[in-house]
Amino acid sequence: MFGRVKPEEWKDYKWQLRNRIRDPLKIADYFNLSKEEREWVLRVSKIYTFGVTPYYLSLSDPRDPEDPIRKQILPSPEEIDPHIQRYGEENPFNEEREIKGLTHRYRDRVLMVVTTACATYCRHCMRKRIFKEGERAFTKEEIDRMIEYIESHKDIRDVLISGGDPLILDNERIEYILKRLRSIKHVDIIRFGTRLPVLLPQRFYDKQLLKILEKYGPVWVNTHFNHPKEVTEESEEAVFNLLKHGVPVNNQTVLLKGINDDGNIMLELFRKLLRIRVKPQYLFHCDPVKGVMHFRTTIDKGLEIIDFLRGKISGMGIPTYAVDLPGGKGKVPLLPKYAEKIEGNIYSFKGIDGSEVVYIVGEVKKDAVAEF
Ligand code: SF4
Repeated sequence: MFGRVKPEEWKDYKWQLRNRIRDPLKIADYFNLSKEEREWVLRVSKIYTFGVTPYYLSLSDPRDPEDPIRKQILPSPEEIDPHIQRYGEENPFNEEREIKGLTHRYRDRVLMVVTTACATYCRHCMRKRIFKEGERAFTKEEIDRMIEYIESHKDIRDVLISGGDPLILDNERIEYILKRLRSIKHVDIIRFGTRLPVLLPQRFYDKQLLKILEKYGPVWVNTHFNHPKEVTEESEEAVFNLLKHGVPVNNQTVLLKGINDDGNIMLELFRKLLRIRVKPQYLFHCDPVKGVMHFRTTIDKGLEIIDFLRGKISGMGIPTYAVDLPGGKGKVPLLPKYAEKIEGNIYSFKGIDGSEVVYIVGEVKKDAVAEF
């Protein structure tokens, strides 16, 4: 597919970006698409843009129509099926209410969107609406306006810089944003929401970027691995480089029908993430976003997966399963029902083998346990 690429080119993020595939028909032969599939891919990508790095594409199996990488990159007719998408909203979380690019949902935190561009356009993206704006980095004036807002709101301690993918910006811009944010006394935490460890890990071979992230630390990375196939030697190296420069990496997986809605797949993913020193932090229920509804499964499925993981991996490897409430009303953590019965201070819990275990807190009357 890529002809002869020198190893040093493959490892160069600029080469990967320069050689991003933006025309979906260029991968039609690779995936052996039918005439009808080609037409759909073209039609859908005119509404929700297409793009993939050679690296991420290389993780796919072109012979397998169920391949999880393929499903995350290849436009499908369901994205624009009015029946399937009828309950989806473009912006269910009312983002960017305050000023362009900035969302102040929780008192102590803000989200700053600094670009609409991504290395690869994920079909399940919850900010799919911004694809329609085309690829653009926010201007200095727009960024300054967001930073001035943060400066004037002293309750803000935590800034999440996202996009698009913020680390796709050039180092100069990244340094400008970090330098200004770090100079604000009330800002403690700066986080990047970036999928580049998954889609373009070569970005973190860039020593200059790593030095910038270290210089303005503490800086955190929230990334987004969805499937064990995405955990590669390259992503391991990327994470290792970030850690060496003092940047912790947490992961937020999205539960996606047909991609990772399976206990064994999740178990393998979370085991692999721990091996490369990434903490699985959240498993998000897929948001009700227009163009993404076909990836949604039931909340019971998510709970079943969390229940399946219990006892098979240490607690460190089990993320918090959560739904993000529409209207910007916050995240709700969800747990399987482990307390079977509660009476006063006598509890009955489900053990890891499924057995019922009576658990007493404090004093109880003699007969109470027998009656319970
Ligand atoms: S990298 Fe993130 S912001 Fe970009 S398309 Fe994928 S999920 Fe959306």
